[in-house]
Amino acid sequence: MDFELSDEHRMLADLARRFVDDELLPLERAVLAREASTGRAELMPDEREHLDRRAHALGLWGLDAPAEMGGFDLPVTAMIGVDEALGRTVTPYELPPDSPNLRMLLETADADQRRDYLEPYARGQTVSAIAISEPGAGSDPAALITRARRDGDRWVLDGRKIWTSRAESADWTIVMAVTDKARGVRGGISAFLVDGGTPGFVIERRIPMIGGHSTYEIRLEDCRIPAGKLLGEEGFGFKPMQARLSCRRVQIAAWCIGRAERALEMMCEHAAQRHTFGVALAERQTVQNWVADAVTRIHAARLMTYEAAARIDRGEEARSQVSMIKVFATEMAWDVIDQAMQLFGGMGMTKELPLQQMAAQTRLARIYEGPSEVHRWVIARERLSCGAERAA
Ligand SMILES: Cc1cc2nc3c(=O)[nH]c(=O)nc-3n(C[C@H](O)[C@H](O)[C@H](O)COP(=O)(O)OP(=O)(O)OC[C@H]3O[C@@H](n4cnc5c(N)ncnc54)[C@H](O)[C@@H]3O)c2cc1C
Repeated sequence: MDFELSDEHRMLADLARRFVDDELLPLERAVLAREASTGRAELMPDEREHLDRRAHALGLWGLDAPAEMGGFDLPVTAMIGVDEALGRTVTPYELPPDSPNLRMLLETADADQRRDYLEPYARGQTVSAIAISEPGAGSDPAALITRARRDGDRWVLDGRKIWTSRAESADWTIVMAVTDKARGVRGGISAFLVDGGTPGFVIERRIPMIGGHSTYEIRLEDCRIPAGKLLGEEGFGFKPMQARLSCRRVQIAAWCIGRAERALEMMCEHAAQRHTFGVALAERQTVQNWVADAVTRIHAARLMTYEAAARIDRGEEARSQVSMIKVFATEMAWDVIDQAMQLFGGMGMTKELPLQQMAAQTRLARIYEGPSEVHRWVIARERLSCGAERAA
């Protein structure tokens, strides 16, 4: 396996790093103050417009979108350096378009949907959400009960979705619904495109989460959408949805590596200059162990993430590898950030430093896109079934 990044991918990662240093880090103080006072870690519209303009001007736009839609068609491996850079800051900005829904649409959209949804999305002109989770179905999306039934030239959606990120600002939301209860995940769950503001698509409430994040609860009540809003083949929405999740999980691992790197840098700087009992904190064995373990685990997480991404790029099975990095990188970052907070003492507990915000973002990532326990289950199940086959 080649561990060298191509010059092109390295230059892209450097460019993303400069964008973060020059544009996102200077906004951090304002984002932290906003979260401390309003409970919402967000950008103001003028800040977002400025960042969009800068990202566009620098060519950090449409990175993994198809070339015929103005993008650069970059593979998942190339995106890791970019996402690592973005993970270094708590300023909430993702370079448009957000990759997972892009990949799901690339796999499923028909000609009309490409024109109406995929192309404007790939050009970064629209915002999207996905509504899978329900009050009774989160870790186990196969248990979802939102129904979609055909009524003439329309689909009629009824049910309830919860924890949907970006639902309020999304131009359209991918809604997963049961179209054939008897077939379940084997041909009975479909994906639909629902435009914001469609009658019967009701955003019932914003749910404040830790770290100033928000999700939304949605009620679908006699929500009628044209037949052409079915995304992909009827009954087979589950597989492209899983592919979408894999893409996000690689992204999460890269964000976590970036966050852990930043916490480690803060730790090393502080440990060198802070003295207690006449000795620099860097001289303490405990602190040295924290640093050594962080360096080692970050390195391991990065290698694992590149390997999982390379498998995805080659079109190979990567389910276990993706589960491994989801668990390993989120838990690694959580530990490193926690130790950095410990090292900073009282300062580490304040809302003035980004550490607590980095911790909250990492804590959320241990739940969304599948809790750690479910991913461990996936990894173990695969290995145990190999054992069972050998035993038989
Ligand atoms: C910040 C955030 C953003 C989100 N955004 C979205 C979104 O945009 N769209 C969307 O559809 N959903 C979203 N979600 C929902 C998220 O995907 C679910 O919360 C997650 O899948 C867990 O489902 P649940 O909350 O129903 O927990 P449950 O399924 O009730 O699980 C609770 C706990 O039980 C344990 N557990 C469950 N199954 C197993 C198992 N097999 N083995 C061992 N332990 C197990 C785990 O510890 C788990 O944390 C978001 C969640 C968060 C926190």
